[in-house]
Amino acid sequence: MSLSIKLPVVQNWSCHNCGGCCRQHGIYITAAEKARIEAQGWTPEHGIPAAQPLFVRMRGGLKKAWHRLAHQPDGACVFLDERGLCRIHARFGEPAKPLACRIYPYAFHPAGSKITIGLRFSCPSVVANRGAAVASQRKELRELAQQVVPQGVHLTSPPLIAPGNPVSSWPDFLQFVAALESILADDPEESVPFLTRLLAALQFVDVLEQARFDRLTGERIREFLEIVTDGVFEDIPERPEDVPEPGSVARTQFRLLAGHYARKDTYGSNDGTLRGRWNLLRSALALTRGRGMAPSLQPRLPPVPFEGLEAPFGVPAESEGLFTRYFQVKLHGMSFCGAAYYQVPLVEGFRSLALVYPAVLWIARWIAAGEGRCRLEASDVAEALAIADHHHGYSPAFGTWGFRKRVQNLSQRQEIIRLCAWYSR
Ligand code: SF4
Repeated sequence: MSLSIKLPVVQNWSCHNCGGCCRQHGIYITAAEKARIEAQGWTPEHGIPAAQPLFVRMRGGLKKAWHRLAHQPDGACVFLDERGLCRIHARFGEPAKPLACRIYPYAFHPAGSKITIGLRFSCPSVVANRGAAVASQRKELRELAQQVVPQGVHLTSPPLIAPGNPVSSWPDFLQFVAALESILADDPEESVPFLTRLLAALQFVDVLEQARFDRLTGERIREFLEIVTDGVFEDIPERPEDVPEPGSVARTQFRLLAGHYARKDTYGSNDGTLRGRWNLLRSALALTRGRGMAPSLQPRLPPVPFEGLEAPFGVPAESEGLFTRYFQVKLHGMSFCGAAYYQVPLVEGFRSLALVYPAVLWIARWIAAGEGRCRLEASDVAEALAIADHHHGYSPAFGTWGFRKRVQNLSQRQEIIRLCAWYSR
C-alpha cells in the first residue's frame, strides 16, 4: 500500500557531512543489516583496525539480544573516517547504510490516514535550515516511510487531549494541533513576539485541560477552537518583566530538567564506572542546590557561577524565527505527544515542549557565560537548541514518572509561564 505523507513546508534539510550524528548516536541494526555489513568484507586496508569490532551485542531486560554498531575509542561510529565521512556510504552508496542512519534526522509519526514527518534539531543543518526544501524530498521520504512505518499504523488511535479526555477521531485531534500551530505562527502583519505566542499557547492548553471533548466532533470542535484561540491572547502580559519571577522550588525543578537537556551523552563519554556514576550524582546535587559553581555537564559547558545564568541576557531577534520554526516542525510532525513522546496526552506533551524554550535559553546563557559574555548571540541559541533537542522525545528519562511529575508540578503552580518569561529577559 502506498503511504500518504505530510511534510513540513517551513523546513529545509540536506546532509552536510558534519559527522555529528555518527558520534552521538548508538545505531541499532537488524540481523539482516548485520549480515549485509559482514558481507561487505571490512579489513584494515579499509581503515578499520583488525582489533576493532564492528558490532556490539546488547541485551535489554527480557528482550532478545540485539546488535548495534561499535564505536571507536573517541565515541565515533566504527565506520566514520578521519574526514568525518561514512565508509559504508563511500564504498557502497547511501542505500547500503543501516536504516537508522538513512532516516536521521527525520522522524515518522502516525497522524490518522497519513504519516507525518518531523525532524530532529539535534542536527545542526536542521537548526540552520540548510539544504533542499523538505517538501521537495517527497519521493525519497515516501520510500523511507515504506521501510520504517509498521503495517496497520493507520489503525493507531489519536492521543488523548488530557488524561481521561479523548477525541473520537484523528481528524478531530488534528484540529487541536492545527489550532496550536496557528497560535504559534508568526503573522508578519502583527509581529507578535514569540514569547507572547508561547504564553498564549500555554493558556490554550490550560483551557483544553478543563473541557471535555468526547461528545464534540467535527464542526462543533472547530467552533470551540475558534472561540478559544481568539481569546487566549487577551490576558498575556506585554513584556517578560510583567510576568512574576519563578519561585525557588520551580527553579530547582527547572535546573534538574534543563541540566538533563544540557548533557551530551555519547558512547565515548558514557562512564558506567562507580566514579562516573558518582560524578553524575554530584552534578545532580549541585543542580539541586543551584549555588556556587555550576558543574561542567559536558565539554561545551565549563563551570560558571549559577547566579550568572539568572541575569538578563536578552534573546537575539534572529532566534525568534528559529523558535517559531522549531515549534512548527515539532507540532506538525506530531513529535510532542502520543507515540512520538512517551504516549503522553496533547496537553502534557505541549507543556513539556514549551519547557524546551527556557531550557534552551538557559543552556545558551551557559555557552555565552562560558566564553565570558553576558549577552546571547544567535549562534548560542542555535547551538543550545541542537544540544537540547537531542534528548527531547529520545532520552528515556523524560518519559519516567519523576520527570513527568516535574512538568505537572510546574504547570499546576503556573511556573512554566514564569520560567519561559524569566529566561527570555
Ligand atoms: S554507519 Fe555511517 S552513517 Fe551510520 S553512524 Fe556509522 S558512519 Fe554514520
